[in-house]
Amino acid sequence: MIRVVAGTPPLSPAEQYGLDVVVDLSRLLVASEGGEWDASGRDAIVILRVGPPTAPDDRAAPTGAITELSAPIPVADGVVTIPRPLLRAVAEVAGAGIEQRSRGRDRYDRVPAAENPLVAASVEREPAVSIAGARLREAVVQAAGSRIVRLLAPWPDAHRWCAAMTHDVDVVSVWPLFTALRVVELLRKGRGSLAVAVLAAAVRAAAGDPVWAGILGVLDAERRYGIVSTWFMLCGTPTLATFRAGDLTYRPESPRARRIVAAIEAAGHEIGLHGSFATSDAPETFTLQRARLRTLSGTAALGVRQHYLRMRPGMTQRSMAVAGFAYDATYGFPDRNAYRLGVIDVVPGWDDAAQRAVPIDEVPLMWMDRAQSKYQGVEDPDQWIADAMVLADVSRRAEGLWVGLWHPNLTTALGFPGASPAYERLLAALTVERPYIAPLHRVVEWRALRRAVRAHAMRPDGQVTLVGPPGRTFDIVVEDADGRPRERLAATPAAPPPGR
Ligand SMILES: [Zn+2]
Repeated sequence: MIRVVAGTPPLSPAEQYGLDVVVDLSRLLVASEGGEWDASGRDAIVILRVGPPTAPDDRAAPTGAITELSAPIPVADGVVTIPRPLLRAVAEVAGAGIEQRSRGRDRYDRVPAAENPLVAASVEREPAVSIAGARLREAVVQAAGSRIVRLLAPWPDAHRWCAAMTHDVDVVSVWPLFTALRVVELLRKGRGSLAVAVLAAAVRAAAGDPVWAGILGVLDAERRYGIVSTWFMLCGTPTLATFRAGDLTYRPESPRARRIVAAIEAAGHEIGLHGSFATSDAPETFTLQRARLRTLSGTAALGVRQHYLRMRPGMTQRSMAVAGFAYDATYGFPDRNAYRLGVIDVVPGWDDAAQRAVPIDEVPLMWMDRAQSKYQGVEDPDQWIADAMVLADVSRRAEGLWVGLWHPNLTTALGFPGASPAYERLLAALTVERPYIAPLHRVVEWRALRRAVRAHAMRPDGQVTLVGPPGRTFDIVVEDADGRPRERLAATPAAPPPGR
């Protein structure tokens, strides 16, 4: 348990954002300012101070932010002091401040991976910001002595880590075109035998519907492994130009797309918006596409991920928030499996231009089926899965979140021999480690709740009283430094239906 003592001079907005994020990542229970604390209660709480201001940055490179993230966190008896530059570095990395100021663009008008500070420092496979949160936790345990240490349990229902599976629905109609493009890609890479296998499967599948078969295959595998996932649907009107660009290729109102949405919803999965290219150029398009998706789906979409991960960091997320989305799942690298925001967790969005938090949660994307295939020439699906599990192990050991993306069009007839059975092996490998598995809106809901819980009082026997927001749909458990459950804040029952 900690009491946060405001720094002097007051924190800048970026420092406040960094403090909020790093405390949230640490899982340390915060004592509420308005709580009922007598002198002995106050004495039992570790104080978290913010260090003095430092001279303005004269950092030569964005990698300076990475250095600051690993700066020592001084510990004294009952007091931990977190350096201000570390807090600003959190906004630069987890808030994507550096990417938001970047002017670099790749051929899809994206910020190139090389502009990311973690990539620049060659540490994009280490969750540097989450590690800073863990270091803060360790510092508080070290400073505590006989004082009370309380941590929020990381995930619901006694799970120690979280795995979320997501799917982008890019292919719905004109499937032979996608097979042909993939065959060309394989031939260019000198993978003639794979191309032959794909063509043979496509000929066999021609009488049926390989797109639908791919969707059913993923739904069936996830049902067997008890996985509830999140699916992102494109929701614009395709034109010849969008076809050529690899952007929109299907109408969401088409019978084929409707059948897919209905099957996903019938299986209990979540539907979000896959933002088309237009959304990053004309932000109001988000509102139109979200409304259009609402006419097809049973509930309003809470989440969004950009097609091709194409966005203008900061600006795009502002528009997403205005359109009513609660979370964005776009922050991953298209060309590598890694931690673009340096976290294995959910973090609030940050607007670097306005220097304030954005009312949207970021759910970073860490692993994607095609990252190795498309960009690194690795065509063995078992290697993709092995890489997924390397990153999943990092999340599991640090009690964090892992988010993966599997395209349901990865079937043999659509160009990917061996991919479907590899996906099953991934589900088996993930579920055997007992993660909390949920659609992203539930993951975000959980994290918003965990973030908002405070200690309100302490009884003479050391028992801590917890307070949280109303309308809680999860139980919250608080542990001591050894991970033993101590206090619980029960979910609040749902409000009775109106009129009763
Ligand atoms: Zn896509």
